[in-house]
Amino acid sequence: MHGDIDRRQLLGLLGGSLAFAACTRRGRSEPSGGESSAAGCTVTPSQTEGPYYVELDKVRRDITEGRPGMPLLVALKVQEAGSCAPIANAAVDVWHCDASGDYSDGGATFLRGTQVTDADGNVEFLTVYPGWYPGRTVHIHAKAHLDSRSEFTTQLYFDDAVSDAVFATAPYNDRGKRSTTNVRDSIYRSGPQLRLAKEGGGYRGSLAIGVKR
Ligand code: FE
Repeated sequence: MHGDIDRRQLLGLLGGSLAFAACTRRGRSEPSGGESSAAGCTVTPSQTEGPYYVELDKVRRDITEGRPGMPLLVALKVQEAGSCAPIANAAVDVWHCDASGDYSDGGATFLRGTQVTDADGNVEFLTVYPGWYPGRTVHIHAKAHLDSRSEFTTQLYFDDAVSDAVFATAPYNDRGKRSTTNVRDSIYRSGPQLRLAKEGGGYRGSLAIGVKR
């Protein structure tokens, strides 16, 4: 199911409507595939898509395409708000800027990709830690599809202290100081934040995203 599946074919397989929530995790060990289910689901704020979204035709786990940067594994779990039951076969898109703050466009596809949730509601993307661009805090755009008409779009944020540490390293450190942190960002408003842990030579960022249907 995770091969080269055209997204329109995927969307034909999917059904349901959505409104999103995030399930917080309390005091349990982390399964390798994503967030654990736990009591205490809270609503995830919807966030603006931003001007850079482009459709993708291909599904892929590794979206790096050779862009330099700190390795980042993004592990997302899509689940029912309230019960935290995992939701399979949801198509999840992510896209973000590179270490220099540039998005792919004009036919380029780096740092963009789609994955379909497995039976446990999990998707993973291999990428690099995003850089920054003027006026915005560090973020990854994310969109989930449960059917051809139902989309939920949000942005995933990072701990500012971790971003500062990453940006002190190459190739991020050949730029000036970033202009905007989370609290100074006009869109952030306590948006969903990836839980970051060092893994290998980089980071793992995980988040549970709940759907209320
Ligand atoms: Fe953006």
